[in-house]
Amino acid sequence: MALPADIRRAVLAQERDVSGLFDELRAGSPDPSGPGVCRDTFGVGEQFGYRVIEGVASGMGLEQRYDHAGNLFMTRPGADRNAPRLMMGSHLDSVANGGNFDGAAGVIAGLVAMRSLQTLGIRPKVDVTTMAIRAEESVWFAVSYIGSRSAFGVLPDGALEARRVDTGRTLAEHMAECGADVDSVRRGVASLQAKDIRAWVEVHIEQAPQLIEAGKSVAIGTGVPGNFRYPEIRIEGEWAHVGLPRRFRHDVVLAGSDFALGLDEIWKSAEANGLPMAFTIGRFHTDAREHALTKVAGEMSLSLDVRAYDARHLERLEADVLALVKDIEARRGVTFHLGRRTSADVAPSNPQLYGALTWAAGAAGIDTMPLASPASHDTATFTVAGVPSCMLFVRNANGSHNPHEAMEISDFLDTATVLATWLVEAAT
Ligand SMILES: [Zn+2]
Repeated sequence: MALPADIRRAVLAQERDVSGLFDELRAGSPDPSGPGVCRDTFGVGEQFGYRVIEGVASGMGLEQRYDHAGNLFMTRPGADRNAPRLMMGSHLDSVANGGNFDGAAGVIAGLVAMRSLQTLGIRPKVDVTTMAIRAEESVWFAVSYIGSRSAFGVLPDGALEARRVDTGRTLAEHMAECGADVDSVRRGVASLQAKDIRAWVEVHIEQAPQLIEAGKSVAIGTGVPGNFRYPEIRIEGEWAHVGLPRRFRHDVVLAGSDFALGLDEIWKSAEANGLPMAFTIGRFHTDAREHALTKVAGEMSLSLDVRAYDARHLERLEADVLALVKDIEARRGVTFHLGRRTSADVAPSNPQLYGALTWAAGAAGIDTMPLASPASHDTATFTVAGVPSCMLFVRNANGSHNPHEAMEISDFLDTATVLATWLVEAAT
């Protein structure tokens, strides 16, 4: 059994390689139309990321295999090749004008942990695999988790016909161009099955400043939120003259404002009770063709995204939202048309794996905190498929999905140390 200090040394010895690798990724995938990187989903930028990561895996002598959806599996064979494997990784794509670390950090962390095993001369008992996942960023095709859901054979019907926001071409066309076997994706072929995976750990930069606030470099994820969404809510009232007295009005702007502030009150009370969640109204507007300075607005549109970490809490929140709607309708004399509803399951971390990562951090002497992921991640696909899963978050300034992501390499190496310490324990 390797000592925690040896594992730490094996990780820190890779500092220069890690910095060079992030620099190589950044330099080779600049956004053609502005600042930041662009590793576009099933496009030139993502392909470039794969070439770089393949090069690293070759240098380490790892087995490399692409599945039918173009996901890359880099494996160090274990003594028992039929036993359920240990898996790590994240996605390689980015948004346009994106940052260099969202996604790539998790793939590189997996490789750093695997190289640490090699340095320490440890032959794992079971296969250890880092997966570089395709197409996590839903901005390109407006479809979530394309790579991981294709791997589990659960990409929803119709997704292959979704068109990329910039090229106008279908996901099927883009996938085929990058060497994927589109027919197998369509038939729901699976390259991953839960029974073959003992654990999945995804390292990701934090996309909020909670670790900065807490003064810690690493967090252990408690879960990926579930959500319900109403993308196209419409409030109907009555258009009227600006001089109409208040008692005659059916003013949708005030109704919409009541709604927004009512949601914020619900959020405040959840926060006071220690229940993490978020409401987001991403769109909130009257019709630009009809609204005017001297009109009481009779119709407005908005969108709603609600996320939380506990299925029952999410249910209660939906009941609260619907009760709020009823109350506003009665008070303001307006009608809410909620429209289409979509949802995603809550994906809580596996308690044993959470415990094992907490133990690893303690053994490595790295101070961590629990953190509910604010964002959605491929880990949710693994959890919903039945794989014991957990995430590690790296402190990062300036959020993500922008060119100013600012992860320190030392914080990344702290996180990779926790990952490697867990891996050594789990694989030996
Ligand atoms: Zn990401």
